[in-house]
Amino acid sequence: MSKITVAIDGYSSCGKSTLAKALAQKLNYNYIDTGAMYRAVAIYCLRNDIIKDSLVDYDKLMESLNDIEVYFVYNTVTKTSEVFLNGEHVEKEIRSMQVANNVSSISSIKEVREKMVILQREIGKGKGVIMDGRDIGTHVFPDAELKLFMTADNDVRTQRRLDELSSKGEYHTFDDVKHSLEKRDYDDTTRKENPLSQADDAIVLDNTDISKEEQLEFVLKLIDDLLLTKDEFNKSTVKH
Ligand code: C5P
Repeated sequence: MSKITVAIDGYSSCGKSTLAKALAQKLNYNYIDTGAMYRAVAIYCLRNDIIKDSLVDYDKLMESLNDIEVYFVYNTVTKTSEVFLNGEHVEKEIRSMQVANNVSSISSIKEVREKMVILQREIGKGKGVIMDGRDIGTHVFPDAELKLFMTADNDVRTQRRLDELSSKGEYHTFDDVKHSLEKRDYDDTTRKENPLSQADDAIVLDNTDISKEEQLEFVLKLIDDLLLTKDEFNKSTVKH
């Protein structure tokens, strides 16, 4: 059976990675969390005083860009590709509120985006990939066979994010988390370089009131139908 590229874009904390991981495991595809890449760059910048309170020292960042190496290694236990920064596993550290509050300033920089997009296209060029982010269907893989645009009610997303943070021992108020999410969405949708936007041919998935299982089933059906059509088409073009 042929393989496709699945692009998942959408707002912060609306379950993109949960869906992407589940799909990748079911289909035996490679899952790439592109947000993790920008978060890893943000960690480098925080550690090296390139960013402070969301303000970026642009010249210092340009001097350091070649020293920032971000890549994924597949973890056979968690069955996902996990992000590394210059040889260090940073999968846990990238999820902190400090990183969340600074990452949009880093991801708005053209040169950072260009560097990450080269890596993303390289990883995804063989198909059989589920990639989530903000510009995957609009810019990284505009020809992806399936594009999803995910959204959910702000309070529901806030609660999910609050639960995720507290399960990792990081405690914040509902209002702080909601403000952080809304600010990040605003920054990501209004930036100049490849802002978050819905591709014209994307399918919108609002998961405010549906379970993870229902959502997974719905998308698996979409993929099944797509693969059937693709294989039928391939068969008919071979015959003629
Ligand atoms: O998906 P996640 O919340 O981990 O993404 C973190 C941040 O990385 C986003 O808020 C956005 O600023 C940036 N990002 C991006 N383009 C992508 C993926 C993430 O700008 N393709």
